[in-house]
Amino acid sequence: MQIIRGATTIKKDEKNQIVYAVKDLLDEIFSLNNLKKEETIGIVFSLTTDIHSFHPAKAARVCGYDFAPLFACVEPDIVGGLPLCIRVMVMVEVSPSRLVKHVYLEDAKMLRADLSSIYNIALDGPAGSGKSTVAKILAKEYNILYLDTGAMYRACALKAVRENVAPQDSEGVKKLLEYLDVKVEYLDGAQHTYLDGEDVSDKIRANEVSMAASHISAHPCVRIKMVEMQRVIAKQMSCILDGRDIGSTVLPDAKFKFYLTADSAIRAKRRYDELLERGQNVDFDKLHAEIVQRDKQDSEREFSPLVCANDAIVIDTSEMSIDEVVAKIKSYIQQGI
Ligand code: C5P
Repeated sequence: MQIIRGATTIKKDEKNQIVYAVKDLLDEIFSLNNLKKEETIGIVFSLTTDIHSFHPAKAARVCGYDFAPLFACVEPDIVGGLPLCIRVMVMVEVSPSRLVKHVYLEDAKMLRADLSSIYNIALDGPAGSGKSTVAKILAKEYNILYLDTGAMYRACALKAVRENVAPQDSEGVKKLLEYLDVKVEYLDGAQHTYLDGEDVSDKIRANEVSMAASHISAHPCVRIKMVEMQRVIAKQMSCILDGRDIGSTVLPDAKFKFYLTADSAIRAKRRYDELLERGQNVDFDKLHAEIVQRDKQDSEREFSPLVCANDAIVIDTSEMSIDEVVAKIKSYIQQGI
């Protein structure tokens, strides 16, 4: 058996509002999950103490959900909890391996009130595991900042490339750091990365910069500087940070930690498509070899390597669509883990 969760809110305690809210919630759960009547074991509602005008189980019956046992209970008051909220658990007889999607509508889309002060989400993993795409979507949905920490290391790498400093040369990199000027700013929610005042957001995506970033980010002096900047930003506002060491080193106390991974060939294919889209023509086999090499370098460096924090939730995205990864992460976040 699996349980699909859902929640929604109404504006006023009125019969019509309850009926429509219950209908929308169940319709969305059933259509998103492609659920059949026969797969439904039972539907349980819980409602906040400020809802009296109609029984959600009756509302479900009125809307045609009369093929499974229905049950509703009033939940205890939670300090800071959402008002006028209807939650549901749909118990279904489907294979445990089937990915189910939980549904949150209206104000229930927001994070629980007790989490809505400053909180951070750490999203770590190797290149091409889907971190940045997922982080951008989550940042938009939760209306929080997305901090792409890789962009900072990429900007350092671009500086080294421009100054003809080998990114492995620790003495050369140390000198470079004395006058390195990297900044991130946000325009319409999108991160822009500046090097010496120039917006290099696109230039740092070049493939040659990826490998240089992996080398340069291994130097403790570079990491100390970048991590300090990342912590300052994360302290000021709720944000989702993607990187290699966010859950383990940058923000070990982050409220939520996820580690995305995927088969290296699949990750290489994703990067390949991304670079093609940007008009960069690269050889797939070479790109794959570079990704494997970058994983190795990032995982084996002594200082703050790519590592899965002990308390992070691991998600293998090899066979998952972006929507599925986002839904999975959201379901963990909504449940407060
Ligand atoms: O994530 P992205 O591919 O943009 O990162 C580029 C490189 O920057 C990585 O290969 C890694 O070596 C480094 N990096 C890091 N720590 C982070 C983010 C990126 O070492 N938090």
